[in-house]
Amino acid sequence: MADRKIPAPLPNLETKPYWEAAADGKLLYKKCSACGEPHFYPRANCPFCFSDRTAWQQASGDGVIYTYSVMRRGAPEPYAIAYVTLAEGPTMMTNIVDCDLDGIRIGQKVKVVFKPSDGGPPVPCFAPA
Ligand SMILES: [Zn+2]
Repeated sequence: MADRKIPAPLPNLETKPYWEAAADGKLLYKKCSACGEPHFYPRANCPFCFSDRTAWQQASGDGVIYTYSVMRRGAPEPYAIAYVTLAEGPTMMTNIVDCDLDGIRIGQKVKVVFKPSDGGPPVPCFAPA
């Protein structure tokens, strides 16, 4: 099955380090230095306590599928969109790739893989671990 064409992400000042790390094959999230909570997506202010003392952390790339949906219409190839809970705690929206879409299960262990985008930085997706 062909990989689906992923539109290029548009990095901004807040997300530039995230996409630069992705180009190096690293998945980042943020952790608040004030309350200690990790979060995703990365942003300047902690979504739990609103502190601006947030710091970049490198994720292991290990995660578990929290939920998913297989999209079979509106794209040339079917694809799976999912929420994956990272080993570090935060949950991120992503795609499940490199597998039989009918074999995907909630609770399945997955590992980050970076897929090229259409003229932008590579995009973190997840494949069965
Ligand atoms: Zn906080």
